[in-house]
Amino acid sequence: MDGRIIVAIQKSGRLSEKSLEMIRSCGIDFYADSRALKASASGFPLDFLFVRDDDIPGYVSDGVADIGIVGRNELDESGIELDVIRDLGFASCRLSIAAPPSFPYSNLSSLEGKRIATSYPRILESILSSNGVKAIPVVVAGSVEITVDAGIADAIADLVSTGTTLKMNGLEEKECIYRSSAVLVARPDMDSCKKAILNSLLERMDAVMLARHKKYILFNLPKNKLQKAAEVIGGMKSPTVTPLMDDNWISVQSAVDENRFWAVFEELKALGAEGILVMNIEKMTE
Ligand code: ATP
Ligand code: ZN
Repeated sequence: MDGRIIVAIQKSGRLSEKSLEMIRSCGIDFYADSRALKASASGFPLDFLFVRDDDIPGYVSDGVADIGIVGRNELDESGIELDVIRDLGFASCRLSIAAPPSFPYSNLSSLEGKRIATSYPRILESILSSNGVKAIPVVVAGSVEITVDAGIADAIADLVSTGTTLKMNGLEEKECIYRSSAVLVARPDMDSCKKAILNSLLERMDAVMLARHKKYILFNLPKNKLQKAAEVIGGMKSPTVTPLMDDNWISVQSAVDENRFWAVFEELKALGAEGILVMNIEKMTE
């Protein structure tokens, strides 16, 4: 493969570590000095550009980078149109309306005519206007939580993941109005060579993401319970079955959806499964 693609990644912040981890788990090796603005992978045609997250949509759209990993909120706030090619699932957070407990809030129309501090005026405005609400935006770059106490806003619209920061500042989360997580964005006009590199990266990412939601399970089972066990495990393919020395027993193995895992585990035990081994899957294809 000729050519390389450039990925824009947040230099330092909530997205940085997970973004690099995602690429590393695709089996791509690189050395990233924390002060460097650029890096190159070895063994895969990928270069890195380390920038502020606010600049990622613009760099990708201008062709300075070919792809980028950025919060959906940052992309929507930028107003730049890019292809969102994957939702990577990490750095999930919500944009919520918060105010002191004394603020009478029932729904978005409670914000009519109020001063709302936010770092995401575009997202806020689009949600308010689609609900027919007019408020006065107070745009701040950071520390949104202190604006009510400081007397410059009545309520805020800020990103929340656990809600502890809000509580610490005497604010109550009133309503979640928008959800975000890290997304992979791409320039729509890549040449065919770059597209091929991106596709091979996507194949690896998909394998990593698919594996994250599965466990691999291995157990011994009385032979006459195999049909029932296969029904419990479900899934697309039948499980792998190996004979054991004792003719009445078999060894069974299969991938299981993580969200069904405990239910499956209990049912298998009830069927008489023994020596149940559970393993994480590093990568898989469907
Ligand atoms: P930069 O210096 O790159 O501009 P930043 O301060 O704007 O960094 P971070 O605080 O590192 O950005 O957050 C990056 C992204 O992480 C956010 O845009 C959002 O998508 C996500 N995120 C996840 N949880 C939270 C949270 N609790 N508060 C803010 N952002 C969060
Ligand atoms: Zn930023």
